[in-house]
Amino acid sequence: MTTKTDSLQCPVCGEPADPSHLGCEACGADLHAPASAAGHWLSSAAPETPCAECGSTNIDTHGYCGGCGKRQTRTSDRTELDLSAIGAATDFGKRHHYNQDAMAIGRYDDIITGVVCDGVSSSTFGELAALAAAEAGIAETLAALTDGQPVDQAALAAVTAAGQAASDAGVRHPDNPPSCTYVSAILDARGIHLTWIGDSRAYWVTPDRGYCLTVDDSHTGRLAAMGVPADDERYRTPYANALLAWLGSDAPKLEPNTRTVLPEQPGLLVVCSDGLSGYLESDDHLAQLIDETASCTRIASSLTDWARRCGGRDNISVIVARFPSTAQEVPSP
Ligand SMILES: [Zn+2]
Ligand SMILES: [Zn+2]
Repeated sequence: MTTKTDSLQCPVCGEPADPSHLGCEACGADLHAPASAAGHWLSSAAPETPCAECGSTNIDTHGYCGGCGKRQTRTSDRTELDLSAIGAATDFGKRHHYNQDAMAIGRYDDIITGVVCDGVSSSTFGELAALAAAEAGIAETLAALTDGQPVDQAALAAVTAAGQAASDAGVRHPDNPPSCTYVSAILDARGIHLTWIGDSRAYWVTPDRGYCLTVDDSHTGRLAAMGVPADDERYRTPYANALLAWLGSDAPKLEPNTRTVLPEQPGLLVVCSDGLSGYLESDDHLAQLIDETASCTRIASSLTDWARRCGGRDNISVIVARFPSTAQEVPSP
């Protein structure tokens, strides 16, 4: 006999749930996610630890120690996130002192979602914009989905909230405000909905092929998308790689790129910062680097390690999601 004290409240929908079940009967949410998964998402925010220099716990919202003034990192140098059908890994690489990338993954019912933001290193404190944008983006995606909004509207609400959060992160740095890229993916039973600004990317990967699904917001990205051959001199003009769009208080008017993909076969979605994509020789190269039998988090972690071995000249963030996210939905070959 079950007594009332055995009951648990679903962290996502609030319905009473049986603690002996893995998932909520009302909404399907994971009932045993750790406390840090409240709201059912995880991010690469660093755990709040005392200053390594002086031991003070008085760290201001911009990441400076109130005791000694040393800059702290608000984002984890290296971490992994795991929600089973979606997993992620980030690493600060070998050349940077801070991890200015941030990422977040979440799940609502059968829908999985992830966001990667890459702090622009020419801005101050790019990681503050990146972390604020990634967390606002994932939280707004889940809030909008919980509200019953369709995926495309949830994605637009999310990037709008992310833009506002990145902008708010810049209030104390008016001269060179923090800015970041943004790429989000929402995977439901039908397909993959992508929203992006900047040069972080999403790839669709099958066992032997890889396809980049996004177009970088740069002159080189747009030239490549138009099929202009690699030897064209326009690729070598000054600032050809400079970002044409970003999030932050000095960003141009928000005009996110969107794309919906309806895959005809199972596969993996890889969402990443240029710390990974910068080392890929081709889109298919990604397929050669992946062992699809491994878990999503394991794949993300091994891609991160690979980029480090290639030189790790930038921060690396990788999210890997399985499509479809539930095994029983895999169509027979
Ligand atoms: Zn629930
Ligand atoms: Zn200190």
